Amino acid sequence: MSVGSAGGVPDRIVVVGAGVAGIAAVEQFRSLGHSGKITLIDAGEQPYDRPPLSKAFLLGEVGVEQIRLVPETWFDDNDVELRARRSAVRLRPAEGLVELDDGSHVPADAVLLATGGIARRLPVLGGDLPGVRVLRTVDDARALREALVPGARAVVIGGGLIGAEVASSAVALGCEVTLVEPVVPPLEPAVGTEIATLLHRQHTQAGIRLVTDTVARIEEGPGHLLIVTGAGQEFAADVVVTGIGMTVPGDLAHGAGLDTADGVIVDRLHRTSHPAVFAAGDTARVRRPDGTLRRREHWQAARQDGRTAAAAMLGQPLPATDPDWFWSDRHGVHVEGVGDLRTGGRRVLRGAPDSLPLAVFDLADDGRLLGAAAVDDPRAIAAARRLISAGASPDPDLLADTSVNPRAWLRR
Ligand SMILES: Cc1cc2nc3c(=O)[nH]c(=O)nc-3n(C[C@H](O)[C@H](O)[C@H](O)COP(=O)(O)OP(=O)(O)OC[C@H]3O[C@@H](n4cnc5c(N)ncnc54)[C@H](O)[C@@H]3O)c2cc1C
Repeated sequence: MSVGSAGGVPDRIVVVGAGVAGIAAVEQFRSLGHSGKITLIDAGEQPYDRPPLSKAFLLGEVGVEQIRLVPETWFDDNDVELRARRSAVRLRPAEGLVELDDGSHVPADAVLLATGGIARRLPVLGGDLPGVRVLRTVDDARALREALVPGARAVVIGGGLIGAEVASSAVALGCEVTLVEPVVPPLEPAVGTEIATLLHRQHTQAGIRLVTDTVARIEEGPGHLLIVTGAGQEFAADVVVTGIGMTVPGDLAHGAGLDTADGVIVDRLHRTSHPAVFAAGDTARVRRPDGTLRRREHWQAARQDGRTAAAAMLGQPLPATDPDWFWSDRHGVHVEGVGDLRTGGRRVLRGAPDSLPLAVFDLADDGRLLGAAAVDDPRAIAAARRLISAGASPDPDLLADTSVNPRAWLRR
């Protein structure tokens, strides 16, 4: 089998993984007029959205029905065969088959791997104890929700996006929360020093104990876990959650002989090293023009990847791409980042560093906007997204002026 720009248009497409990347790909296949057979295979009970797992779902504000990615009728409406609670265990591209865990085989002219990833485990003694939890799936979130009872001593390891959200939800649920994070402030590369500092301070203001240290080991005590830090501090925990990023199990891709490196390596068309197998979303590591590999690990990137991969599989023009964008919600504030804030370019602030709303912008030497981040300033980020896409060079004084409506930045 060989597809897209390399060969013909595939008739039977198998998408493995019904997360946001897989679903976006299927939507794109159908909207581009593909009328062949589409089979969507997913190990989970139903396609659901992950961002609420550390927020509204963990807080008990929504249930699994409210976090469905698509309504139940969507599969029939789009003529998609969903094989839920089934795992793909082997790709056999040479034979045009995908093998499932029940021993059945699904014929495929092309395969899209949209299998996401798994939460990274803490690589220290005790990091794999049964009581040391992670948050990636709805089952993880259900179990965590049961454990986060008022008064429980919750230790969150890792102050990145997911760790910070879990800490925020845990304190809102009445737990006594400790957040262990060696880098202060965390998230600096994603949102810049000013916003990272403001966000980190919010943890203390919410009553969370911050421990700036690494975790050396975790021990089992009578009825609790004991966290021992690199500097020798010890504290007991009823619940331990690690939020230290994700990793990609390579079995499926590796078994099919695809190039992998903590993710499935793809080019900008999302083609793997096999011409009929594509990969998108958290599972994919895109080779950039400078040869580096990058996994983006955000919702919008996964959705965009799915759409791009689908167009490429059909040999059709690629959809327009937006700059990278992510959001996070914690302690009652909404955080967003767009583009790239690691450029060391000229930094412009909109607002005071210790008050809300606050936005930061990075401009290149030639004045182009490269990246922006904001807390509680969605209009600034919406405008920044458009400016970055257009390669525009906004007036820094207008960006900084809080009396100016961000829409005015878009006027020439
Ligand atoms: C708790 C949490 C909160 C988050 N919050 C935010 C946020 O606020 N903002 C943001 O931008 N991003 C957030 N993210 C990141 C975002 O959710 C992910 O980037 C996105 O879900 C990736 O989508 P995906 O489709 O690539 O993978 P996934 O959503 O992981 O979906 C992959 C699917 O593949 C299935 N699968 C895997 N292997 C197999 C197999 N062998 N056979 C069959 N099925 C298989 C899995 O069951 C899964 O359903 C969050 C992530 C988590 C975990």
